[in-house]
Amino acid sequence: MEKGAAKKIVMSGIRPTGFLHLGNYFGALANYVKMQNEYDCFFMVADLHALTTLPDTKELKTNVARVLAENIASGLDPDKAALYCQSHVPETSDLYLLLNMMAYKGELEKTVTFKEKVKLQPNNVNAGLLTYPVLMAADILLHRAELVPVGKDQEQHLEMTRTFGNRFNHRYGHVFPEAQAFNFGEELLKVPSLDGAGKMSKSENQFATIYLSDDDELIRKKVMKAKTESGGSEAGAPMAESVANLINLMKLVGTPSDAIASYEKAYFDGSIRYGDMKKQLAEDMVKFISPIREKAEAIRNDEKYLKEIMEKGAAKARKSAQATMLQVKDAMGLNY
Ligand code: ADP
Repeated sequence: MEKGAAKKIVMSGIRPTGFLHLGNYFGALANYVKMQNEYDCFFMVADLHALTTLPDTKELKTNVARVLAENIASGLDPDKAALYCQSHVPETSDLYLLLNMMAYKGELEKTVTFKEKVKLQPNNVNAGLLTYPVLMAADILLHRAELVPVGKDQEQHLEMTRTFGNRFNHRYGHVFPEAQAFNFGEELLKVPSLDGAGKMSKSENQFATIYLSDDDELIRKKVMKAKTESGGSEAGAPMAESVANLINLMKLVGTPSDAIASYEKAYFDGSIRYGDMKKQLAEDMVKFISPIREKAEAIRNDEKYLKEIMEKGAAKARKSAQATMLQVKDAMGLNY
């Protein structure tokens, strides 16, 4: 970076809707950890977003503590990045309200995640669910962030953030930069589910998702049950998706590249033994996850420590948010 140039601003969040999994880790957390050294980072636990799908708040406090602990156990340093809870920054709601006037009903209804959630919870199609992308835009634009480390599933939401920000800029004058989805790799990641269909997710296919909290035996059990094709491949055909998924997971958890190459070769010459391949993946996953799990367990119940971190993070986030809201209100002429 040039001397004296301002650091780029980074913002992202994870909903406290359960334990974090490998999709959250590789789609989001691993990037947070790398970015905290180079950028001005704001990372939050998105508790308000969680309310759109989980109206029952009994578990919320525990879940917020878990997400914070798992962020820190994955390497996030609260002295470097602002780590906070969304509802502790009330400016979020102020900007959300104003941005709702930039968002049209038709485009919100067309959002893929909205349509999916309508199917999942037909009896709770609340306005918060419809305006989920507006709240997400508020989180990002509140810090005038340029980079947003997220998984592939968030691409459309990021595009909507740019749309709402640009509409505001055109209507009232330039306040917001265009936020881009970010991954250190070449493209955004989608960590596949172990059943060969869809992505790992907190809300779906529990047995096909590997959590950072899974114990060694459970990891082994889940991996050994992963879907694979029976038999070899037809000459010239691409690798079956379920097997390619396992190879991908091996790459992510650090299986040595020569071992991966030999499984690929065995697949194509028909000599692959899926049991051996899964055993290797299971052991590599255990090695990868167990230190994170142990560290998170040690932090999770330390309420005092977690509260201190959240308060410090919220103070930093509110300072940045208040500066943006002054610009927003000025641009809109709401400065009387
Ligand atoms: P979930 O989908 O499990 O409820 P969130 O919606 O809270 O998770 O997403 C938190 C972050 O994790 C987002 O940046 C999202 O893109 C990322 N993420 C979630 N699942 C995956 C996955 N399977 N692969 C890659 N990234 C993912």
